[in-house]
Amino acid sequence: MSFWESIYLPAILGGIAITIKHLFRKGATVKYPEQKRELSAVWRGQHVLKRDENGAERCTACGLCAVACPAEAITMVAAERKKGEDKLYREEKYAATYEINMLRCIFCGLCEEACPKEAIFLTDRIVSTDYHRGDFIFGKDKLVEAVDNRIDVSKRQTPAVLEFKKQKQYSHNK
Ligand code: SF4
Ligand code: SF4
Repeated sequence: MSFWESIYLPAILGGIAITIKHLFRKGATVKYPEQKRELSAVWRGQHVLKRDENGAERCTACGLCAVACPAEAITMVAAERKKGEDKLYREEKYAATYEINMLRCIFCGLCEEACPKEAIFLTDRIVSTDYHRGDFIFGKDKLVEAVDNRIDVSKRQTPAVLEFKKQKQYSHNK
């Protein structure tokens, strides 16, 4: 080591200079919840189970989202649609129970990608905090969108996806 290296002074002063420089820089953190960041249109937050244009639930309880989920956060119980329920459920089979464990979910979006019925989407809504673990099991009461308060997910779909959806020859789009 040279003389200056052996007394460590230049290194210490260099470190202090870096610290002082950062004191006057704008912080990267925000004071949540008073300050809120603008979220991206494709932010992956709380899920929604969508209804079709007539208000019927789109989910057909096929289970593909649960299979795709790496966190094993999704469970459901399928049921058969009864006579007169076609306004409630789009397909002959529907999810009588559909639950997502928000404590397990890692918001990867794979359930959304796996769904052939465009029934499940992640949204820009933040999952609210709570005190009890059981309250993080979100059932249909929290997941299915209200008939009179639809959740717009159009921004999550790129122009290429919207173009693909117009092509009715693909079973995915029927
Ligand atoms: S976002 Fe990912 S982890 Fe969460 S439920 Fe969907 S597939 Fe599972
Ligand atoms: S949300 Fe989609 S993938 Fe999941 S069970 Fe319903 S239809 Fe199937």
